[in-house]
Amino acid sequence: MSRFADFYDRSINDRDAFWAEQAQRIDWHVPPQQICDYSNPPFARWFVGGQTNLCHNAIDRHVAERGDQAALIAVSTETNTERSYSYAELHREVQRMAAALLALGVKKGDRVQIYMPMIAEAAIAMLASVRIGAIHSVVFGGFASGSLATRIDDAQPTVIISADAGSRAGKVVPYKPLLDEAIALASHQPQAVLMVDRGLAPMQLVPGRDHLWADLRAQHLDGQVPCEWVDATHPSYTLYTSGTTGKPKGVQRDTGGYTVALAASLPAIFDAKPGQTFFCTSDIGWVVGHSYIIYAPLIGGMATLMYEGLPVRPDPGIWWSLVEKYKVTHMFSAPTAIRVLKKHDPEYLSKYDLSSLQALWLAGEPLDEPTAAWISGAIQRPIIDNYWQTETGWPILTLCNGVEPQPSRFGSPGKAVFGYNVKLIDGDTGAELLEPMQKGVIAIEGPLPPGCLMTVWRDDQRFVNTYWKSIPGRQIYSTFDWGVRDKDGYYFILGRTDDVINVAGHRLGTREIEESISGHPDIAEVAVVGVADALKGQVALAFAVPRSNAVAGDLAACSAMEKSVCNHVDAQLGAVARPARVYFVASLPKTRSGKLLRRALQAVAEKRDTGDLSTMEDPAALQQVVAAMAAAER
Ligand code: AMP
Repeated sequence: MSRFADFYDRSINDRDAFWAEQAQRIDWHVPPQQICDYSNPPFARWFVGGQTNLCHNAIDRHVAERGDQAALIAVSTETNTERSYSYAELHREVQRMAAALLALGVKKGDRVQIYMPMIAEAAIAMLASVRIGAIHSVVFGGFASGSLATRIDDAQPTVIISADAGSRAGKVVPYKPLLDEAIALASHQPQAVLMVDRGLAPMQLVPGRDHLWADLRAQHLDGQVPCEWVDATHPSYTLYTSGTTGKPKGVQRDTGGYTVALAASLPAIFDAKPGQTFFCTSDIGWVVGHSYIIYAPLIGGMATLMYEGLPVRPDPGIWWSLVEKYKVTHMFSAPTAIRVLKKHDPEYLSKYDLSSLQALWLAGEPLDEPTAAWISGAIQRPIIDNYWQTETGWPILTLCNGVEPQPSRFGSPGKAVFGYNVKLIDGDTGAELLEPMQKGVIAIEGPLPPGCLMTVWRDDQRFVNTYWKSIPGRQIYSTFDWGVRDKDGYYFILGRTDDVINVAGHRLGTREIEESISGHPDIAEVAVVGVADALKGQVALAFAVPRSNAVAGDLAACSAMEKSVCNHVDAQLGAVARPARVYFVASLPKTRSGKLLRRALQAVAEKRDTGDLSTMEDPAALQQVVAAMAAAER
């Protein structure tokens, strides 16, 4: 057996011994009594009886040995600032904020919602929350008031932390008005709001509720707040992700399992060592940002580079100049970002000294071969695809080159990662597919490994029903992705089995966008589908039936209404969810039982064969779709 095969095999077949060993990579206040309690499937409880703290493992335990080493390097090409915090400095800053949160009344188990741009304070806020045993819930800064309000009502935060503004391509994006609107829309009201003032946009503070970060920091300059030891199963955070319904799900992560999983991923997947520098270009609003901007690099005693700005501003060499300057060893990004760079001269990348870089990991969406080949040629470094989900918190499929170097295969994110008992399942019968290259649903046999979601926040039933009951006849976790596996165990992802789309590596539920557009006063009905896009992987297209018959066919009216619908989505959900185009039709293609024929719409939009349409109520509806698209392109 190869070294990796043996490692993987032990993680599944000698599970508790394997994870007991991995658990030694972190500090425990009380060591676990039981490695995995799976007595109530599909709920897995890892490291039961153990007590630890995520912030302790990320910061405190490194201070004695590497107090002066850089821990957090925050670079913004939006405000042209660079600030580096050593482990000792970060330790002090986090304690100041932990003291501030305690003073604002936050207790263990309370939620702290974080709606912030990519600034150091966001990382400090997250670390301060878990330090005191509070549960953070970061909401992506690109979301607008409607999305934020839904998440406020679900998370019910005691405190919300935000900033006056973000900035994109030099344009200030004020956050405070969006936050105030979201709080006005929400039924739940936070006790306090903590605002970082970056001096970018004027803010109106609500007396008695709103506080300035700088004031509280000043009041707690000498704050010394020991880490709150929590049970391994105590939630560290929730993070919302889209599904097939309009209501996002709060993925709930534990403390002990997550810390161990990330600690184990560093040597095995990333071949990473303390003192090295990790640069993950994601955003703290996404799972990749939680795991590989904030927690994993710090757990591993590395420096983490946090970046606010675009990959092409001031020029397409900016990220690579940072690799040279900070001697980045590990870089993590998404295929979309690379496709943006690909429009520019590769000289922008290769002119910097990238010799420190061990490899570039890409995740979040399918990595197409031309993009992989281009970036590999431009930086002359291994490109490693990895596949995972918000739910899992760390990779499900990749190459564990730290255990044993293995060749990449174009188009494949690699093999099942240790701890994940990945199977391909026939979606109709539930039978396991064992032959090479059979297409099935990628599923994971329980228990999910440490680090994966414990449940859906405040909704155990939704956790069970959504993830564990979609495959007939068996209780197995569905990823909702189609895939195949070759004879050597390499998987290939073939797209989603549900109505979730992936725009520039961001998961969006078409239902959520449809619900927003349906709320527009002039729209009667709408269908949203994802279609292939050369740059973003997929984009959302909306097909809307206006309330007034006069609109469809009138180009000027369509164009005005398209703008109005897009503005409506921007204001409710944020620009990330804005459809690339809105087409107006008199009716939508449906089955006789009234079910929307999304696949047919998608096929028409991608100019593919629509397949069997025998169940369709009105075949003319698809002709209208074709006509509406053609008219809009003219
Ligand atoms: P999210 O939870 O937003 O990270 O989205 C997870 C989904 O993104 C997965 O279920 C896949 O559909 C897709 N995805 C993530 N990583 C990859 C990858 N490396 N290759 C193909 N699809 C991916």
